[in-house]
Amino acid sequence: MVKILLNILTHGDELAGVKVADIIRARYPEIIGHGLDIQIANERAFRSKKRYIDKDLNRVFPGNPAGCYEEIRANELKPIISSYDLVIDIHSTESGSSDIVIVTKFDLNTKEILRALSSKYVLFMNIQPDRSLISCARVGLAFEMGSDKDESTVTNTIKGIELLLSQNDLIGHKESFGFETKYFDVFGQVGKPFGSRLESDIKNFVPIPKGQMFARTADGSPIFAEFDFYPVIFGSDNYETIFGFAARPLTF
Ligand SMILES: [Zn+2]
Repeated sequence: MVKILLNILTHGDELAGVKVADIIRARYPEIIGHGLDIQIANERAFRSKKRYIDKDLNRVFPGNPAGCYEEIRANELKPIISSYDLVIDIHSTESGSSDIVIVTKFDLNTKEILRALSSKYVLFMNIQPDRSLISCARVGLAFEMGSDKDESTVTNTIKGIELLLSQNDLIGHKESFGFETKYFDVFGQVGKPFGSRLESDIKNFVPIPKGQMFARTADGSPIFAEFDFYPVIFGSDNYETIFGFAARPLTF
């Protein structure tokens, strides 16, 4: 029988995953432990109401048994993650991005699942692809459906999970998202000088050409794009040292 892992709280402050897990557990009690397992990745960060304790858990795989808290945790999680046929990792984001499925592998099996899901966006993460939780999975999908503040984040996350459960015959037939998926290759990070802010017209998935001013430093100096890119999971307050990621459309 197929074994699927629903992983939540890789980031301890992304609470959509808690609601999602509660709803899935209540709706499909018969498959819990019989095809579907649910796991909390960073319980300590969750209890501390923080993204992480020492280091971002989603950047420290495969971990280190002698490292900091998250490195130890990643080392514990790795064999668990890799023992499943499919791992679904639930995130949420306050970047204004939504409707995103992230993968770190783009093999035939993964492509087939993505085609069936037909989500709005797929990001193929080529930035430190081996450091994320899903990188240890045979097939791993991270859901980044939106903000914790939007009810649609939970609804859309559940829709995606239900489709994957139905594809694996754990539950009855479910409809896909039904989008013509836009695929992006994430090839870089865009640095954020301390205190700098994005220009207000910068939007996720709207391309920024080389030479365009897209942000200002703390003292108001312009910051220009050094290359053409599509901003993804981009915002002034998402990450400490980067605005977010640089992507290009992926054709195949
Ligand atoms: Zn996250």
